[in-house]
Amino acid sequence: MPTTHFHSCTLCEATCGIAVTVEGDRVLDIRGDDQDPFSRGYICPKATALADVHHDPDRLRHPMVRAGDDWFETSWDAAFELVAAGLKDVRRQYGKDALAVYIGNPSAHNLGLLTFGLPFFRSLGTRNEYSATSIDQLPHMLAALQVFGNQFLMPVPDVDRTDLFICLGGNPAVSNGSIMTAPNIRVRLKAIRDRGGRVVVVDPRRTESAALASEHCSIRPGTDAAFLLSVMHVLFEERLVRLGRLAPHVRGLGTLRVVADGFAPEVTAAATGLDPEWVRALARELASTSRAVLYGRVGICTQEFGGLAAWLVLVVNALTGHLDEPGGAMFTSPAIDAVPLAAAAGQLGSFGRYRSRVRGLPEFSGELPVSVLAEEIDTPGEGRIRALITSAGNPVLSTPNGARLDRALAGLDFMVSIDPYLNETTRHADVILPPTVHLERSHYELALANFSVRNTAKYSPAIFPRAPDQRHDWEICLELATRVLGGGSAVRALARRLGPEALLELGLRAGPHGLRKLRGSLSLARLKKQPHGVDLGPLERRLPGRAKKIDLAPRLYLDDLPRLRARLERQPADELLLIGRRQLRSNNSWMHNSPRLVKGKPRCTLLIHPEDAARRGLADGDTTTLSSRAGEIEVPVEVTDSIMPGVVSLPHGWGHHRPGVRLRVASEHAGVSVNDVTDEHFIDELTGTSAVSGLPVRVGVVSAADGSPAPAALTSPSAAERA
Ligand code: SF4
Repeated sequence: MPTTHFHSCTLCEATCGIAVTVEGDRVLDIRGDDQDPFSRGYICPKATALADVHHDPDRLRHPMVRAGDDWFETSWDAAFELVAAGLKDVRRQYGKDALAVYIGNPSAHNLGLLTFGLPFFRSLGTRNEYSATSIDQLPHMLAALQVFGNQFLMPVPDVDRTDLFICLGGNPAVSNGSIMTAPNIRVRLKAIRDRGGRVVVVDPRRTESAALASEHCSIRPGTDAAFLLSVMHVLFEERLVRLGRLAPHVRGLGTLRVVADGFAPEVTAAATGLDPEWVRALARELASTSRAVLYGRVGICTQEFGGLAAWLVLVVNALTGHLDEPGGAMFTSPAIDAVPLAAAAGQLGSFGRYRSRVRGLPEFSGELPVSVLAEEIDTPGEGRIRALITSAGNPVLSTPNGARLDRALAGLDFMVSIDPYLNETTRHADVILPPTVHLERSHYELALANFSVRNTAKYSPAIFPRAPDQRHDWEICLELATRVLGGGSAVRALARRLGPEALLELGLRAGPHGLRKLRGSLSLARLKKQPHGVDLGPLERRLPGRAKKIDLAPRLYLDDLPRLRARLERQPADELLLIGRRQLRSNNSWMHNSPRLVKGKPRCTLLIHPEDAARRGLADGDTTTLSSRAGEIEVPVEVTDSIMPGVVSLPHGWGHHRPGVRLRVASEHAGVSVNDVTDEHFIDELTGTSAVSGLPVRVGVVSAADGSPAPAALTSPSAAERA
């Protein structure tokens, strides 16, 4: 007899409610949950693919041990013993830092990993902790730390009440918001225009979001910080600065006035490619619109001046009176609030407490930038990484110069992956410990509710009970903690019995909607009775109380400005710059084994402007080489005027051609990995974040669409020739 269960899609930040109809152990249907107070029935195509993951014959269901190129199933106990021995051996021989950890992006969507996995990884005491943060959002978290004193205090656009939404380096129409949890953002953006407001997209590509916007303007990659400084210049020059009610609490205004002086739009125009008059008009519009917000996302922080750009987004919102105001950049009041929890746990954030061994890049909140991971493994010497734990991550495809990391992983003494797939990264592991997947886990949106455009709370029990021979991620981490670290057995036995739900209950009771409320306080029992979730209302003003400080001019950023000035003085070279591209039917590297998501024409294509294509003799459908210092790949081109001249775009997460991978569908739709070209040495020097956006590249022609080889004069030199 079919039954329908309500859950959340945990694939991306939008957290859409889903209604899942099942019979026995089969998923019959996945639809949007019309009664979810936040997503109101919306889902994107990826949600239905959760069924493909659930039934995927390639998904690992038992621990796997590698012997050469062969893999064997083993028992959980035997696998844990092997892993404990391997990790303990490396720690004993070489010390704590010889064991590294890489935590992938899905961890942020996983209640068990957040409550048990992250504390376990941290308790290993290694300086070599890495995560997707440093290829995604580190500059935003650093800006929150520097300006407000708490790394989690990142404001989100109050998109449902704004009348001017300026989007810089983001594509919410495809992502459904990032550090802006906003299911069905297309409808929310359309609503801005319907109520007479404007949506402005500033991006090197006419993105899917730009297609919905009132206006799109192309900006040269890597120059967003210069553009924002010019906006700031206009605000001061034309006396448009309005701090509003936050004025008594804000520090650094005088310094900003001096800083802005040298960045008139006419000065930065050659670098940004933006018309100075357009920049001036936009600054005036932002200042004069009472409900307006500037939103910057991944494209602004994964570039050479990502630290500055992320800081300046906060600054411009503050200077125009849009910080912590309805319709502006606001803070959430989630049921479990990361901001006070971080303060209580001493996790406000840190920067530069130590540096990486080889290149000296700075630590951020206990992590090193992932751009140094390969060199920390393959560079001999004291402190070298000898063993690695990966959890829910595929850094070979998702981090810069993945090919070097691929080679480095093969040289480790020991590696264990907590992952349901034998993929491009986990194929190097000695042991793979496969956890349960989405529909087999209970869920509460612990992390992303802190960055949501509306306050909501929802708990979903697992739809399918885990089989006796399966383990949840949190159970795996707890067992590894016991066997690797020892001690605390009574506490761990209790934790094993209570599970993540006990911590969830504590968090709900202690949160702003918990025991402090006289009536209608939130508890896990109450959430269980409301399977569609609970609406906790719109965003509210939270400053100054929520922040330790509002310092708009931290010294860290002021000291980085000369680097930007030097860059502006260099004339833009006649070179192609590479940017990424997020796709609706793709989710990093995770979902390419779903037949329904990869069907249709190949989507791993290089976008190039017609002028650039003509200059290189390229036609639509030709295969080109794409090369950088780091490597060279071959990729089909798509000639389109949706990309600005001088820029090419390739999506990430592809490249499933490597041997030894057990992803049959993905291998048939392999594509190429952009991270075989991105360069681990091309970084934002301030934060260490990988600058995967704006990388100088070269293209040539390998073969024309009709199969004929390209004239030799048009091909780019091979890596060997360049060397
Ligand atoms: S936007 Fe799509 S992938 Fe993201 S949560 Fe919603 S249904 Fe899932």
